[in-house]
Amino acid sequence: AAKNNGRNRYSYFTPSMHQAALNRVQLGKDLRIALEKEQFSVSYQPIVELASGSIKKAEALIRWQHPQRGFVSPVEFIAVAEETGRILEIGDWVFREAARQVTQWRETIDKDFQVSVNTSPVQFLEEACKPEIWISALERLGLPGSALTVEITEGLLMDSGPEVSRKLLMFRDADVQVALDDFGTGYSSLAYLRRFDIDYLKIDKAFVSSLTAESDDMALCEAIIVMAHKLGIKVIAEGIETEEQKALLTSVGCDYGQGYYFARPMTAQLFDDYYQQRTFEGM
Ligand code: C2E
Ligand code: MG
Ligand code: MG
Ligand code: MG
Repeated sequence: AAKNNGRNRYSYFTPSMHQAALNRVQLGKDLRIALEKEQFSVSYQPIVELASGSIKKAEALIRWQHPQRGFVSPVEFIAVAEETGRILEIGDWVFREAARQVTQWRETIDKDFQVSVNTSPVQFLEEACKPEIWISALERLGLPGSALTVEITEGLLMDSGPEVSRKLLMFRDADVQVALDDFGTGYSSLAYLRRFDIDYLKIDKAFVSSLTAESDDMALCEAIIVMAHKLGIKVIAEGIETEEQKALLTSVGCDYGQGYYFARPMTAQLFDDYYQQRTFEGM
């Protein structure tokens, strides 16, 4: 069967797929110079404590302003960066930017402010991806490990070997927090939650977007929250877009919320304005 597959593969390679492949090759080339040409930036989206409304966390999200194509989604170019081996340096760059920014926000917004940085499985699994590098960078900035949350995905934990455990333990020993992103979209094995020390679980926006009081998704969210809390894990709901979604999640004890209802990802400067405005309005 494998042989057949191999032979048939070419007949499935349609012109539009050819175009898509070319497109990725070109994106890969463009990514090579994006860092030195300073085409990347980092946007920050507030993570709101639902019970109090306070903001002491933000997620760092990379943005790429391509000279010809304009804004390219990270969903598209992170995959290309993984394929072309650029993901490590891009990931390190996002981390350094975010670490610099959180240093400032711990002075201006809250002394315990935290920033979340996404990691891709390919990046995390690279041998050259060493937690000690990030940990010592935090030390040099005078930051405790707890200023940083590393977001990982289920894909990383799925068939991970001892290296992943070792890296996660290094982060834990340095008090860096770990969040399991996009929870519910992958295999969502409960075994991961037992085997790895996770601090936060992020319920994927797919479950939040269709939330109503009587929905199955409501039951799922509630069950995830109860289970997480029993394991000592805090829950962040992603993709909250309406007042109702916020109210429902708050009513079942969800710890944090993130989504367009509160704010879109924005530049650090706009984040400052947003924070000021909220404080002014007494929120
Ligand atoms: P993610 O880590 O799950 O990030 C959340 C995504 O949901 C972000 O998309 C954010 O803009 C979007 N979002 C936030 N609130 C809402 C909402 O209310 N409704 C909807 N529909 N969407 C909302 P973004 O910035 O396009 O990033 C997409 C994905 O790309 C991220 O998903 C993450 O997996 C990846 N990514 C982004 N930045 C980085 C990075 O620096 N490194 C790595 N490795 N991956 C990144
Ligand atoms: Mg994330
Ligand atoms: Mg993700
Ligand atoms: Mg997510």
